[in-house]
Amino acid sequence: MSDLFSLEGRTAIVTGANTGIGQAIAVALARSGAKIAAVGRSAMNETMELVDNAARIHAIRADLSDTASLAPLVDEAVEWAGGVDILVNNAGIIRRNDALDFTEEDWDAVMDTNLKSAFFLSQAAARHMKARGRGKIINIASLLSFQGGIRIASYTASKSGLAGLTRLLACEWAPLGINVNAVAPGYVVTNNTEALRDDPVRYKAILDRIPAGHWAQPSDIAGAVVYLASDAANYVHGVVLPVDGGWLAR
Ligand code: NAP
Repeated sequence: MSDLFSLEGRTAIVTGANTGIGQAIAVALARSGAKIAAVGRSAMNETMELVDNAARIHAIRADLSDTASLAPLVDEAVEWAGGVDILVNNAGIIRRNDALDFTEEDWDAVMDTNLKSAFFLSQAAARHMKARGRGKIINIASLLSFQGGIRIASYTASKSGLAGLTRLLACEWAPLGINVNAVAPGYVVTNNTEALRDDPVRYKAILDRIPAGHWAQPSDIAGAVVYLASDAANYVHGVVLPVDGGWLAR
């Protein structure tokens, strides 16, 4: 049974691995046996210390909003590890403003990072995975893949788009042996939600609606990613799996 979830001998690219959910995913995948190509635009020291095995993690510095950086970073991961088996599209940003005042800059920045880079990085990784006849791509979606929200127009558009893209890529690439799925975290204590947690009214309103009775820690999200990256999920394609303390069930 444990072999079903083992990632021994696999290599995972994890974007935005320096902090938050991406860091927790990188650590959990490494503990399950995977080698980690940890991608980010900031220093990766903390994640490297947490993985605590220099042979198991390789930091790649890249700004994902620049599409020219995407194929080369996959090549670097392949060169380092000899192949790529798993891609976790985790990096993401959020911009908050009323829809009436939302700027084109805030629209483009979020769409480029959360959606466009996820597509073109998946394309670059899938070209390698196709040659090996297997691969796992896991997109980090959101409750805003299912719901509207307020004051985050480009974020909701990007995460709803990412859910659709997950299903499209699952259909196109399942015949190649590539599983494309997504995990949709609920409310997690990270930099992304700092503004919400700093607003006592919003914070309490959100907390009161979570059946589990508490916000998630980044490590609460990582297990679902390990599952989708493993052989246990070989017949799972195109799913957007909520890990939300019951929020959507309410
Ligand atoms: P976070 O702590 O702000 O982490 C976001 C990560 O993305 C950071 O590593 C960040 O790097 C990286 N990143 C952003 N833009 C990048 C770029 N252009 N190039 C390279 N890396 C970039 O937030 P988080 O909550 O862990 O978010 C991780 C993912 O989960 C995001 O896709 C987010 O939308 C999603 N999510 C979060 C929640 C939540 O409640 N927190 C809920 C649902 C979904 P820097 O540190 O350099 O900025």
